[in-house]
Amino acid sequence: MANNRTFTMIKPDAVNNAGAILKMIQEAGFRIVALKQTRLTAEQAGQFYAVHAERPFYKDLVSYMSSGLIFPAILEKDNAVADFRKLIGATNPAQAEEGTIRKIFAQSIEANAIHGSDSDENAAIEGAFFFAGTEQY
Ligand code: ADP
Ligand code: MG
Repeated sequence: MANNRTFTMIKPDAVNNAGAILKMIQEAGFRIVALKQTRLTAEQAGQFYAVHAERPFYKDLVSYMSSGLIFPAILEKDNAVADFRKLIGATNPAQAEEGTIRKIFAQSIEANAIHGSDSDENAAIEGAFFFAGTEQY
């Protein structure tokens, strides 16, 4: 079952497009297992992106990711992690393929609309970061 789930969040720049983005996700065959609206503190955003702590963009990323509402979600589909990365497109929207969520909705390499886990292991960790202890999934 592990490779049937991934974690995503619609980032602050894209919550206004959440309806259209969720429609694309569902039409691509993903089932929404859990979904909520929340806002991260700078400390929580720093924790979520701790793996990037040494990168030059980390401080900006933390402030951007705590600047407004986000919609975290857990998604289910065969081959969920890889298929979802394909659906969202490259980190930099300028390099994302036509028709991908980032190509359509992202503003910049930082404000790139949406997150997608990069492995089954991280999908489980990231999903638990937002939904552990709830009965939502
Ligand atoms: P992805 O989200 O595609 O897995 P990364 O894990 O490399 O990308 O980076 C995490 C997030 O950090 C990106 O989604 C983006 O918001 C931001 N980011 C990545 N690279 C840069 C960069 N060069 N400049 C500014 N922000 C960046
Ligand atoms: Mg990543």
